[in-house]
Amino acid sequence: MKDILKLGEDIIEDKIDLNGLKLKAEDYNIYPKSIHEREGSILFLWKKDYEKFLIVLKGGSLLELFQGEDILSKRGKICPLNQKNSEVLRRFFPFTAPKSYGNSNITIGLGDRLGLASPGHLKIVEEYEVFPILAQQSIRELNLTGRNYEDVLNSASWAVFQEGYKSGFGADGDHLKTAAEVKMALENGFTMITLDCSEHIDSSLNYLNNKEINKRYLKIPKSIRDGLEDRYLDKKFNLGENIEINYDREKLEKIILIYLDTINFTSKIYADWLAPLGDSVDFELSIDETTFKTSIEAHFLIASELKRNGVKVDSLAPRFCGKFEKGIDYIGDIEEFKREFYHHFKISQHFGYKISVHSGSDKFKVFPIIGEITQGKYHLKTAGTNWLEAIRVIAIVNQDLFRDIFDFALERLDDARKYYSVSVDVDKIEPLNKIRDKDLKTLLDDDNARQVLHITYGLILQEKDKQGDYVFKDRIYNTLIEFEDKYNEMLIAHIGKHFKELNIKKRNQ
Ligand code: ZN
Repeated sequence: MKDILKLGEDIIEDKIDLNGLKLKAEDYNIYPKSIHEREGSILFLWKKDYEKFLIVLKGGSLLELFQGEDILSKRGKICPLNQKNSEVLRRFFPFTAPKSYGNSNITIGLGDRLGLASPGHLKIVEEYEVFPILAQQSIRELNLTGRNYEDVLNSASWAVFQEGYKSGFGADGDHLKTAAEVKMALENGFTMITLDCSEHIDSSLNYLNNKEINKRYLKIPKSIRDGLEDRYLDKKFNLGENIEINYDREKLEKIILIYLDTINFTSKIYADWLAPLGDSVDFELSIDETTFKTSIEAHFLIASELKRNGVKVDSLAPRFCGKFEKGIDYIGDIEEFKREFYHHFKISQHFGYKISVHSGSDKFKVFPIIGEITQGKYHLKTAGTNWLEAIRVIAIVNQDLFRDIFDFALERLDDARKYYSVSVDVDKIEPLNKIRDKDLKTLLDDDNARQVLHITYGLILQEKDKQGDYVFKDRIYNTLIEFEDKYNEMLIAHIGKHFKELNIKKRNQ
């Protein structure tokens, strides 16, 4: 503390200039790229023990605006990274505020469940031609981590400030299911809305026979059926390169029965909440959380009807063939994926939006296909893998904590399956007591262990003891903040591997 005050004194008295400060920064636990001069003040981020603070020095309006503890005879302040200060930051440093991705070709969602991963993400994003969506959380994730959208966005803003990253980032209200959730995300300044229509898709309809489908289909008002039949029944749609989409009666009735509600719901949400905002917010439609894959014909009809209703979709996430389970590689027939992904891509191209790939963490087998077919225009979401890299760090630097977490995760696996469906086989995981400390990290390369650790994150973070104290949460945060360089290093390597397999171009090449 004394050191930082002495340094502050020197800065205020111009005994040290900005370059000198940058050179000395790391000796004082100051993040060198966070050093900024604005409105007559010098500002930077400083780490003390397990917490980061903003330090504002010299006079100027910012010294007044940021809340904090006065230092150096009121010529400086030490400020917590709270909501009020985050708002001031975004106002005076516009690059710390999220924005729509506009025409960016490759956009990657980098969900950061702990609020600690974005600095590492930015260190690798800097190298590649990619627009990052740093703040990306679903309502399910917020509930499981006990966080809110203010906190998620603030973590991203401070990370951007810390890294001095000025090329822009987005904030995705992910998998929102109701108007109230969309409203909440927009009020918090999120710049992307991912509308999850799963509550409007009755998956059981997919498994009915044609007779049963027809019976239910006839309950849809005749005027609506007539309109849709007019537009699609026995019609052919050519997407070029011998891709033709057509609808016979059976196929059409089934698609309409399954997706009409989705089309209506999306059109209403769009008209009420997105249309008034113009291009400032990106709009993604997600129909991926179903038990069956999205057929090419269904995708085309949904896109076509939405366009007719004036909905401007920026990206759409179909459910692809095969399995996109959390945090592990693609499971399924690669050739089939390639063929169907190409068809989905052609539809997206026809309507002018991007294909979005959800559960995109660790899908190394299909990354080259995604990169190649889309010619570098897509959205891909990752989240769980960033949590797993955090756990990998813990396996390397704090084995006692890792063992406690893993035992607990195994114990509570059945509870976690309520939130996520995975095909994990616990019996295939090597018993922990047979693994030496230095080999614990290899569990992070085992698909079964990965899935156990992936889906139990909420239970791990929320677990409290009899006194009401967190059992793991504080230990996890303290370890990751203490070893933040290690976490950055892991993320750079792991997300870097994603970018390489996707064949994303390096910047300035
Ligand atoms: Zn999804």
